[in-house]
Amino acid sequence: MKKGHFNSSSFSQDTLHEECGVFGVFQNKDAAALTALGLHALQHRGQEAAGIVSFDGHRFHEHRALGHVGDIFGSEAIIKRLAGTAAVGHNRYSTTGETVQRNIQPLFADFESGGFTLAHNGNLTNASILRRQLVKRGCLFQSTTDTEVIIHLTAISECQTVVECLIDALQQVVGAYSLVGMTNDTMIGVRDPMGIRPLVLGKLENSFVFASESCALDIIGAEFVRDVEPGEVIVIDKNGTTSLKPLAISNHHLCIFEYIYFSRPDSILEGSSVYEVRKRIGIELAKESHVPADIVIPVPDSGVPSAMGYATETKLPYEMGIIRNHYVGRTFIEPADNIRHLGVKLKHNASRAVIEGKRVILVDDSIVRGTTSVKIIEMMRNAGAKEVHMRISSPPTTHSCFYGVDTPERDELIAAKHSTEKMCSFIGADSLSFISIDSLYRAVCSSARDPIKPQFCDACFTGQYPLSLLDLEEGEELPQFSFLSDLR
Ligand code: SF4
Repeated sequence: MKKGHFNSSSFSQDTLHEECGVFGVFQNKDAAALTALGLHALQHRGQEAAGIVSFDGHRFHEHRALGHVGDIFGSEAIIKRLAGTAAVGHNRYSTTGETVQRNIQPLFADFESGGFTLAHNGNLTNASILRRQLVKRGCLFQSTTDTEVIIHLTAISECQTVVECLIDALQQVVGAYSLVGMTNDTMIGVRDPMGIRPLVLGKLENSFVFASESCALDIIGAEFVRDVEPGEVIVIDKNGTTSLKPLAISNHHLCIFEYIYFSRPDSILEGSSVYEVRKRIGIELAKESHVPADIVIPVPDSGVPSAMGYATETKLPYEMGIIRNHYVGRTFIEPADNIRHLGVKLKHNASRAVIEGKRVILVDDSIVRGTTSVKIIEMMRNAGAKEVHMRISSPPTTHSCFYGVDTPERDELIAAKHSTEKMCSFIGADSLSFISIDSLYRAVCSSARDPIKPQFCDACFTGQYPLSLLDLEEGEELPQFSFLSDLR
């Protein structure tokens, strides 16, 4: 493959997109304001849209919009309108369903027993099959999200309480889900039986909090209580918390990419600091792929801790040779094709003073299509780098994710079709190495709670999917809106 001539249709798709962030507060007079802060801390998990639903003891209130949390919930008037002592929030990056107003979560439904709202991080792998069955039974869908399938299954369940109906619904779905739900008198946190997506429980004085990551507890000063366990349903009401284990437990399979890229480095994930794990990944990467060089430079921001680990192991100077402009929106929202190729230049700039005449080790977290790496390496050479050796803190991404992370189709993943040598020549590096899966596990597991039997989902590197992909096997297509009146 010639340098830079891979079929790079769009810059915008050259990263794995985070999935979603969920948050909930129960029994706090500032529930909506705290939820807005929690969503702000989880902004990295979803930047397309956000929503909050609150309950004031009599009525539910809701506000959802496209955009960033600060823009949507920055107004005091909006927070005041979200009255009540309980609130659930959601940050969205669409992994199923189109990006329109009706797909913004938390979703809400009026049941016979009262209101029910649900926020979901993850992706169901049998949602289309279930949806077709539900439509045949007369269910009217308002969105194209897989989350609404859970709501309909809950609504038609013949169990007694909403919690029992939700559990009945979850026994029919397959996939990755961390959920925060709310009824008139309870808040419910659920993690799927494999625990693919994270969810933590926190406490703020007498209030309880659910959040996708512990960094969202820190922002409101809440104390970390514990991870919600895989397959666990935690129900909070005025009497406190009840832990239920109604879902068949399978082997634990937390998404390993949460450690590499998705989670914030200041989060603690299943007992391990994401920052420390990333540093250890850099150490392992250096041990197996170091070449003579002068400096180590991260591709900011997610490459930073791994580059620090790499520099520590090799005793090379660690330098911020690439500066990221934090005030640029995500590349995928650049409007027109004719300026989209500018994405990386808008976001990153190389510092000639640091780079000129140096042999550089450049550390990044992943290569998806490879188009971003082409631009960054070109930028390094234009800044005078003598050599550029690219080191990647994940194994080659060869398979798509079906559990809540937006990845391109498999044939668009550069590593699915090309050897490391070909990828190296395409991105224009002097050498290219990815961390091996064994070294990745060594880095992730060295402080895991169960070092003997660490279990993670690593399917995007190995193709070994821990959960069946039922919709895919049946050739089911995702539903689309037939009538689009919403603001896109
Ligand atoms: Fe995470 Fe990859 Fe598994 Fe998706 S396929 S859950 S991104 S490890």
